[in-house]
Amino acid sequence: MTGADSGMVEITDHLGVYRGNINVGIVRQGGKCLLVDLGDGSVLEELGDIGLRPDHVVFTHHHRDQACGAGLLPGGTKIGVPGEERWLFEDVGRYWEDGGNRWHLYEFHPHHLTLTGSIRVTESYVDGQEFTWGPARITVLSTPGHTDGSVSYLLRVDGKIVCFSGDLIHDGEGRLWELHSLQKGKGTRDYHGFMGARDEVTGSLKGIAGRKPDLLVPSHGEVITDPAGAVSRLEGRLSRCYDTWASTSSLRHYFPKLFPSYLDGPGIMPIKQGLPVPDYLHHIGTSWFISSESRSCFAMDCGAEGIIDELKAMGNWCDSVEGLWITHHHDDHVDFVPRFREEFGCEIIAEEHVAEVIGDPLAWRIPCISPVRVEVDRRMADGDKWRWHEFTMTALHLPGQTLYSGGLLVEGRGHRLLFSGDSFTPGGTDDHCCGNRNLIGKGLGYDRCIEILREFEPTHIFNAHVDVAFRFDREQLGYIENNQASRPAIFGGLFPWDDPNYGLDEHWIRCHPYEQIGHRGETFEVEVVATNHSGFERKLGCSLVKPGGWYGDGPGSIDIPAGEEGRARLTMEIPREAGFGMYVLPVDVRYGSMHLPQFTEAVLRVE
Ligand SMILES: [Zn+2]
Ligand SMILES: [Zn+2]
Repeated sequence: MTGADSGMVEITDHLGVYRGNINVGIVRQGGKCLLVDLGDGSVLEELGDIGLRPDHVVFTHHHRDQACGAGLLPGGTKIGVPGEERWLFEDVGRYWEDGGNRWHLYEFHPHHLTLTGSIRVTESYVDGQEFTWGPARITVLSTPGHTDGSVSYLLRVDGKIVCFSGDLIHDGEGRLWELHSLQKGKGTRDYHGFMGARDEVTGSLKGIAGRKPDLLVPSHGEVITDPAGAVSRLEGRLSRCYDTWASTSSLRHYFPKLFPSYLDGPGIMPIKQGLPVPDYLHHIGTSWFISSESRSCFAMDCGAEGIIDELKAMGNWCDSVEGLWITHHHDDHVDFVPRFREEFGCEIIAEEHVAEVIGDPLAWRIPCISPVRVEVDRRMADGDKWRWHEFTMTALHLPGQTLYSGGLLVEGRGHRLLFSGDSFTPGGTDDHCCGNRNLIGKGLGYDRCIEILREFEPTHIFNAHVDVAFRFDREQLGYIENNQASRPAIFGGLFPWDDPNYGLDEHWIRCHPYEQIGHRGETFEVEVVATNHSGFERKLGCSLVKPGGWYGDGPGSIDIPAGEEGRARLTMEIPREAGFGMYVLPVDVRYGSMHLPQFTEAVLRVE
């Protein structure tokens, strides 16, 4: 997209599509036009050159890549939006100021591509509404999936039927721009809803196909000339991805009723019985406790006050708590860590990826994040070993359930215990939330976790939410390993990107710190962090979209080697007269030849 294939494509005498950073539909009548979506507004310059003035703009959904150029529209332009998303256009403060969209994130549909500034809306539409603009008869179709309130616009113009379908589908191959917007609960919270909106997406597309459009215009890819074929190709790709994911998913252990066709059968990892827990271990809530022969205790995680009370009530089980290991950053594992330390005065230990997040939660916006800040006394690197009474402990970076997860291997008393946080259950892998960054490919994500299991051969694996111990036999390990090995090709087929992790990893570009507090007259500084998932060097360019009248440096640019993370630093002065309060600062991104307007954001609170 963009670069060589950008520009104006004529569809009929009165309808064209401007292919910029998104596709913008243009219906012409005399010197005026109606636009479908707008992108960053770069189309407006083009319109000026050919003597067209926007009279009316309609939006398929509320995301910034569709609508961030709205501030450039001439006064008096009519702006029409989907009724269900009207508030996400004209009252965006309600989204950003709501702590429920920031902390303890378990529900995130719609997500953070919400506009950072409100737009003046003049009308909103409901399913089936029809209106005429110039030569076009327009029907609004409710087409949820990419967002809950997305609509599509069916245009009858010059004898053709052309449908603008937003981000429901990417192209005629039946691919998607990304998968994380399909994260949606279905009988669960959104957090557990990997690909949960897939049936909504295909249902919406089938509804469109039933109207027999000649062409489908997606927001990001090329115009689709065979809508029905594209929809069935997408359906096939989605099923292959879902089947692959579900056949080794941990959720089969937690919610077997939601996965009736994935419990056994060909290609599906069998779920086997758990093992008894050694008697020197104890499980309360999401915490595991180890007791040494000398009656000292080592703890893991503390997500609830009741855990502390129950441990105290156990009285003579141990004399003192000497250490607390934190497996990962989720709130159900850290919320009561400060209270635990207060109570038992123990040392807090974490693997460095975990310590990064829990030591400064304001800097992160990821699922299930807790605002509770945890001071880590000992940061361990992957592979660091230490002795605790009769046990040898090894810290491991275990990029399973989340990229920021640490495993603890405890060897002693004839056992090799692997405390995996939430990364494994007897059902398999806990990779059901794109926001957790479950990368796929050799040596990444669960492929790396399986390497760890093969290397250390734990006799028992533990999950913080599971009472029993378990282990995977050779057959099960083979299932998970082959399943992971098949994913790059299967998920690769779903996206137009050169690596599927761009479509899966919601945070391949992020701002660090995500949120910070600043004061008038200070310099605001932020890093734009990009993970280059490609197999070749990539150029990242980025610039902050500054509030009116604020100044800072120009765009930053860096080269990122294949497979690595790159950081570009941006700065801006906070004016002495700046108003107090919250500023959501979008970042324009250039990645190779792609322009991704307002692709990520940082938050500044001026106090
Ligand atoms: Zn979108
Ligand atoms: Zn958990």
